Amino acid sequence: MTNIRHNWTKEEILNIYNKPFMELLYEAATVHRQHHDPNTVQVSTLLSIKTGGCPEDCGYCPQAARYHTNVEGNDLMSVQQVKAQALRAKSTGSSRVCMGAAWRNVKDGEEFDQVLEMVRTINKLEMEVCCTLGMITENQAQRLAEAGLYAYNHNLDSSEEYYKEVISTRGYEDRLQTIDNVRKTNVTVCSGGIIGMGEKIEDRAGMLVALSTLNPQPESVPINALVAVEGTPLADEKPVEIWDMIRMVATARIVMPETQVRLSAGRTQMSREGQAMCFFAGANSIFAGDKLLTTPNPDVNEDMKMFEALGLNPQKPFTKKVQPQTVEAAESKFQALGEKPKWSRPDHKIERNEIAKQQSKVLK
Ligand code: SF4
Repeated sequence: MTNIRHNWTKEEILNIYNKPFMELLYEAATVHRQHHDPNTVQVSTLLSIKTGGCPEDCGYCPQAARYHTNVEGNDLMSVQQVKAQALRAKSTGSSRVCMGAAWRNVKDGEEFDQVLEMVRTINKLEMEVCCTLGMITENQAQRLAEAGLYAYNHNLDSSEEYYKEVISTRGYEDRLQTIDNVRKTNVTVCSGGIIGMGEKIEDRAGMLVALSTLNPQPESVPINALVAVEGTPLADEKPVEIWDMIRMVATARIVMPETQVRLSAGRTQMSREGQAMCFFAGANSIFAGDKLLTTPNPDVNEDMKMFEALGLNPQKPFTKKVQPQTVEAAESKFQALGEKPKWSRPDHKIERNEIAKQQSKVLK
């Protein structure tokens, strides 16, 4: 087993990303085989437990209330609804359920208590539970850990420099702070980003520097290809070339050898052959289900046919880490503190986000 490096520089990562394609693929596949079973791929189901109406201005996101998109908002799902969906996901080969809520940050109260109950319920189904709920405090991370949370997702999205061109309502340092809060618990970290938002290759490398220099590195890194949605500021961005996606996966694999690299949004734009090359280059996790929060995703049956054709097996739950214990609400060591943390609201505006917001006002 090689040592994990936490001191990658942007230049080194750029050199890897820009290697001749076959050389890059070979190197990434070699690292992959040293650290993982190349025929096993983890399957997660992403569930939008509270959709739309988000106060943030992420330029790629159809759930931001300020943009005019086709997304219909939904209140928080019930625990029973979530349990039914989790059982369905389990029956189709998923080992993990990731619950996403379109919130800026978690607020202590009834809704968060309901999410904690969802976490307990899914953990008892012997599935890994992940949440992506926006920014959280250390106390909230502890309460999620007690409920049996396996992973918390909070993406860095892009490099620190390009992040400011996409999101103006919160800062990069807030993202890092939430990741740090999760790290103080035994919950694993899932953090990645999106390519195809108009960023330079240097920004892709910058994002991989930010992720790979975390110590420990995230246990899971989703690589998304932008799904450009009408009404969002990034609606006119061109689809990501498959070669870029493979290069990004391969580079992530080389600099974060132990991490599960996840093919996330944008798989509907990729051929099965393209996805197979991503698996060869080190991707070993996918999101399953016909929707990824609000954007389309390949049908589960299609994915299973692809697995069969490639001789891939879905990873069993808790292969990488033991199942967390669930502490019932009544026995909890941690109480709601009702904190009102001062997450930053950076003082800058993004022109294309402002234009999309104005257009939305006209259309509404
Ligand atoms: S990505 Fe998340 S935080 Fe950003 S607008 Fe969408 S739901 Fe809100």
